[in-house]
Amino acid sequence: MENSKALGTWLDDFKLSHPIVIAGPCSAETEEQVLKIAHELKDSDVSIFRAGIWKPRTRPGGFEGVGAIGLKWLQKAKAETGLLMGVEVANAAHVKLALEHDIDMLWIGARTTVNPFAVQEIADALQNTDKIVLVKNPVNPDLALWIGGVERLYNAGIKKLGVIHRGFSTYEKTKYRNIPEWQIAIELQNRFPDLPLICDPSHISGKRDMILEVSQQALDLNYDGLMVETHIDPDHAWSDAAQQVTPAALKQIFSDLKIRNVGVEEADFNQKLARLRIEIDDFDTKLVDILGKRMQVSNKIGALKKEKNVAVLQSKRWNEILGKMILEGEQKELSEEFILKIFKAIHQESIVHQERVINK
Ligand code: PEP
Ligand code: MN
Repeated sequence: MENSKALGTWLDDFKLSHPIVIAGPCSAETEEQVLKIAHELKDSDVSIFRAGIWKPRTRPGGFEGVGAIGLKWLQKAKAETGLLMGVEVANAAHVKLALEHDIDMLWIGARTTVNPFAVQEIADALQNTDKIVLVKNPVNPDLALWIGGVERLYNAGIKKLGVIHRGFSTYEKTKYRNIPEWQIAIELQNRFPDLPLICDPSHISGKRDMILEVSQQALDLNYDGLMVETHIDPDHAWSDAAQQVTPAALKQIFSDLKIRNVGVEEADFNQKLARLRIEIDDFDTKLVDILGKRMQVSNKIGALKKEKNVAVLQSKRWNEILGKMILEGEQKELSEEFILKIFKAIHQESIVHQERVINK
């Protein structure tokens, strides 16, 4: 993608506002639902209406989308509102149907980006069309796979390209549905500065009350747009109910968002600062998470000691830990004084936890 400079120009071509806003339900459910949402989004910051027609579900038995009939509803919504229409495609048959129904934007979902065969099939089916194509990050935190997906489309002559950052799945429980790992998207942005980068706060957070916070972080990092799942009756949505917002709530989010409009130099400084702060915040969250897990192990040790009636404090073991950590700290340029302070605090907390278990 040497000539990635041309990639961002579709944003200008469509005279889309900055940031570009894509909104609409996780899934198209009924004609009435699609039309109602589209009409409510008509006079807002939204430029592209999204709706899932074919839904990739983690386990069988869930609602798997209404299928091709939904494309007719989108055509009607487009005719009535003038909004551009976007759907997720996962194979060549989906692409063919979307093209037949004059869909303007096609996105590749996270579960499809992981599969180069599927992405290539989609790229071949789209060969040289002038559709907007957005590639979501793969579910696993693999930047090369994400870039590979974009390259397959680029090589197929698709010029209106962009990427959607929707977070990454982990086995660990975190406050996110999919952890953002912002540094991965930032690296992509550094390597392809003209490739439009859109944040999907809905799938990152998994809950509607976190959409504003995640969207603001994305804008502070100079993302080009947001894709937010929007439904007239979120609680009764057929998929992703917890993360969808009403059109009215979406408007409120946009009025609360600080869309920073500053000089180039200041913007550069602010962005660098925002990136570093987000990195720090990520590490702090991970630190607390790890400390919590460490204490859970302490609780288990406490339970074992209780069984065998063994004393909590075992200084020999503790001195071994300290010695080892001082050496490891040295390699990371952490002073002995700092390591001692931190581990003393951790040790004390650990004792509190064990005593609590033993005296229960
Ligand atoms: C979606 O956008 O509704 C969707 C299925 O997203 P993802 O591919 O990010 O899981
Ligand atoms: Mn969804």
